[in-house]
Amino acid sequence: MARFCVYLGSRSGEHPDFRQAATALGTAIAEHGHTLVYGGARIGLMGELANATLDAGGEVIGVMPDHLVEREQAHFGLTELIRVPDMHARKATMAANADAFMALPGGIGTLEELFEIWTWGYLGLHEKPLGVLNVQDFYSPLLTFLDSTVSHGFLNTPTRDMLLDAATPDALLDALEARLQG
Ligand code: AMP
Repeated sequence: MARFCVYLGSRSGEHPDFRQAATALGTAIAEHGHTLVYGGARIGLMGELANATLDAGGEVIGVMPDHLVEREQAHFGLTELIRVPDMHARKATMAANADAFMALPGGIGTLEELFEIWTWGYLGLHEKPLGVLNVQDFYSPLLTFLDSTVSHGFLNTPTRDMLLDAATPDALLDALEARLQG
């Protein structure tokens, strides 16, 4: 059993596969006996994921800054909703409560959170695994770009390889579970 911190869109995206992936991931997290840690919103993919985890009997911890409670429609039906004063506290609290990290499709908030936790790992501040769910090839252009940062000499291969990717929720969960056990 582990605590999975998931970063994902406050919007749902156009393609129905995005919502379906969030729902499938929430169900899988609960069925594997894991706990979901996320940003605490009801909106977009964030809400889909939290509700699917709860519906499958899983535990969900949300972390919500006070100033976003209305704008992001804080989810008051979670196992625990942690209120924090600002965005920095949100990210630090989510990280402190997680054993591994995932990014689903999302916007610049999702990307910001993913890159911050990756850089914290690269700087030796944690050794927790992380990966992206590449549903609908959403992350393929980013993964190609990241490979080019290696070939251009701005990123080393071990750091690049810290970021896992998989096309399905089950495959990503399996890959992260394997890293947690290894
Ligand atoms: P988005 O991917 O832009 O839809 O945002 C997804 C989530 O990330 C939302 O709950 C945003 O409030 C959150 N977010 C955006 N920027 C930050 C930030 N700098 N630190 C922490 N959370 C953020």
